[in-house]
Amino acid sequence: MTLIESFEKLDYSDALESSKEAQSWLDSHGRRFGQFINGKFESKSNADLIASLNPSNGDLLANIEVASASQLNKAITAARKALPAWQAMGEHGRAKVLYALARLLQKHTRIVSVLETLDNGKPIRESRDIDIPLAIRHFYHHAGWAQIQEREFSEYKAIGVVAQIVPWNFPLLMLSWKIAPAIAMGNTLVFKPAEQTPITAMFFAHLCAQAGVPDGVINIVNGAGTTGAALAAHEGIDKVAFTGSTSVGRAIRKATAGQNKKLTLELGGKSAFVVFEDADLDAAVEGLVDSIWFNQGEVCCAGSRLLVQAQIADKLHTKLKKRMQTLRQGEPLNKSVDIGSLVSQTQYQRVDELVQNGLEHGGELYQASTTQIDGNYYPPTLITEIDSSHPLAQEEIFGPVLVSIPFRTQSEAVTLANNSRYGLAASIWSENINRAMDVAPKIKAGVVWINCHNQFDASCGFGGVRESGFGREGGKEGLYEYLKPKLLKKATKPKTLKVELKDSNENIDRTLKFYIGGKQVRPDGGHSFATYNADGSLANWVGAGNRKDIRNAVSAATKASNWSNQNGHLRAQIIYFFAENLALREDEWIKRLQEICGLTKKQAKNEFHASLSRIFSYAAWADKYDGAVHDAPYRGVTMALPEAIGVLAQIAPEENPLITTISLIAPAIAMGNRVVLIASERYASIALELVQTLETSDIPAGVVNILTGNKADLAEQLAGHAEVDGIWCWAEPEIVSQVETTSATDLKRLWVHIDGDRDWLDSRQGEGNEFLRNATEVKNIWTPYGD
Ligand code: NDP
Repeated sequence: MTLIESFEKLDYSDALESSKEAQSWLDSHGRRFGQFINGKFESKSNADLIASLNPSNGDLLANIEVASASQLNKAITAARKALPAWQAMGEHGRAKVLYALARLLQKHTRIVSVLETLDNGKPIRESRDIDIPLAIRHFYHHAGWAQIQEREFSEYKAIGVVAQIVPWNFPLLMLSWKIAPAIAMGNTLVFKPAEQTPITAMFFAHLCAQAGVPDGVINIVNGAGTTGAALAAHEGIDKVAFTGSTSVGRAIRKATAGQNKKLTLELGGKSAFVVFEDADLDAAVEGLVDSIWFNQGEVCCAGSRLLVQAQIADKLHTKLKKRMQTLRQGEPLNKSVDIGSLVSQTQYQRVDELVQNGLEHGGELYQASTTQIDGNYYPPTLITEIDSSHPLAQEEIFGPVLVSIPFRTQSEAVTLANNSRYGLAASIWSENINRAMDVAPKIKAGVVWINCHNQFDASCGFGGVRESGFGREGGKEGLYEYLKPKLLKKATKPKTLKVELKDSNENIDRTLKFYIGGKQVRPDGGHSFATYNADGSLANWVGAGNRKDIRNAVSAATKASNWSNQNGHLRAQIIYFFAENLALREDEWIKRLQEICGLTKKQAKNEFHASLSRIFSYAAWADKYDGAVHDAPYRGVTMALPEAIGVLAQIAPEENPLITTISLIAPAIAMGNRVVLIASERYASIALELVQTLETSDIPAGVVNILTGNKADLAEQLAGHAEVDGIWCWAEPEIVSQVETTSATDLKRLWVHIDGDRDWLDSRQGEGNEFLRNATEVKNIWTPYGD
């Protein structure tokens, strides 16, 4: 054979990573694992078992015991007991433990990578070069946050005992995303890995003692969905951090309704990969490889929807097909393999079924590989000739399946990118940075990558909007998910009227109208109710809103979307003007507060001036709450931009009606939201009396809408309304619970409270960062630079 002939026949040979060390580690534990509770391993001979299999060949890796109810209780009790000592260890004490965990994982990188590949089926190249280094990076990075917690989060404290539940696609990486920030901030936890991939969590548990993690701080329980459900709903849990499917996220939202638990949900996605005609197509093709064929496409933020500008679609498809032919699929431990095995036979069947059923609705299938490999190896797949409403373009497939849809113009690209119930991530491919930076904010997603995809780092927040969930993991923004304000003190209960109510027989219609779309309008149903002054005399009649009023108000708020695109300076000017106009009515308001709320003149003056000051605060914040640039280890910048949530429904508290109404509306509109506010029932007229001032303050029609009526009914309508993006709710426990349950349908972002949870007159409790954070969602935009 000539040299040229040999060169042409060159092929990759097998470069198998040895699994010897990993197999002997499994053997040394009798290939059986129980629970890790209070720093010890617990095994029960009669436990139900789940077989953890190597998905690439079906070999048994280990039998996993399902935690019993009493073991679950024990783990939660151990976490609760460990809390005070863990917090008493202080910032430096905790930082050292996190640092030690990072160092130990680093020391064992090779065995952990192999265990991960054996358990999940992902290529060793990826577990060795991506999953495990990133997991280590999370512990290092959060060791740093633990060290500087008191300076950076001086007004916050740990939440308490956290339940953490993760899926199977990045087992150890997800573990580190969850555990590192939680313990850094002083929480303790009970963690549940996925039933398919518990092995690296068990390995990690063995490192905990060596790293000096005190008993009970980290507990790991095994089991399937029922164990996860029991853990999330357990009364001993203060917060649930869940990553997984949207359907299970929804079930957890419902199961924890009314339990006063903080919740973060990192759910599914159908992320757009948008290629403009001016993109570097070769780079885009490599980007697609890293986007949809990374981790066999079992990635929540996989760029599974390719949107390509029509004039370059054929060219891109040709290049892509050529590249697909060179992707190597096979034995995950082979270092020269690009795509490994799906996680299980069930997942293989699920992906295949989705594809086959989807193709019945049309579409052209392209799969490069024709060789059938035994096992759960799904070939890289491209489907063209479909439109955006096709089931394969809407459903999350969670496998190596890419669908491609053409678009003509930039605005059509944005519309198509947003044509999804999900909102996790997107990437934009264009050599024109002006275009990319223009499109990025318009895409409804928590993460946008420019000319790259699937970039992650511990310093950058990750998480979605819409049915991709809420909350962030990573970055400073992610740490707030494990903190709560220190200062909250119960507010003094509002006075209940003990005087005799004097019915009015007045014939004149003095009903205060709703404020919808910049106009004062009568209630649709024609019903109203009386509100009373502190002495029992009639204050005003106010409308009793119904479903149609809610619909009109939400529609007005939706139409006012331009407000979200205004710059902070302009919003600030308008909010200052509102304060100016309110100040003109000082005497009138002081009198009203005395009459309606029964305040002394001094108290009324105090509330009025605190309200004015609060408006000024948010006018000030409007152009100053402006995000960050994260320092991720790559050649580029990641901008963390706080974006308005959209249409925000607000259920106002029952106390201090003037300052609470302002404390809700002002931060929301300062950050660019449009508001539908349901006023306090007891003091309904106060919010409506503000309307005259709002009307004269240049606030565009529809930005603020105010209704009165039965809180429970109206809150329920808002929670179920598809165009409401988020809800702030101060109400009785039953209403809060109802809002949590109803909003699970489309997973609205919630900020809920039981009435009376704070002293609104205290500016540290009633205004500031906590409100601004809840009025925004952080979008991380990754922009690499250099050629
Ligand atoms: P699931 O939602 O089925 O499972 C996730 C975890 O929740 C598992 O540990 C599972 O246990 C557990 N679980 C199942 N049912 C319940 C329940 N009723 N209550 C509490 N816990 C429960 O997701 P998959 O494992 O199928 O993972 C794939 C999904 O995860 C995809 O939709 C993907 O998009 C999403 N995902 C999202 C990410 C993100 O950051 N947004 C990242 C990675 C994945 P068990 O498996 O043991 O039955």
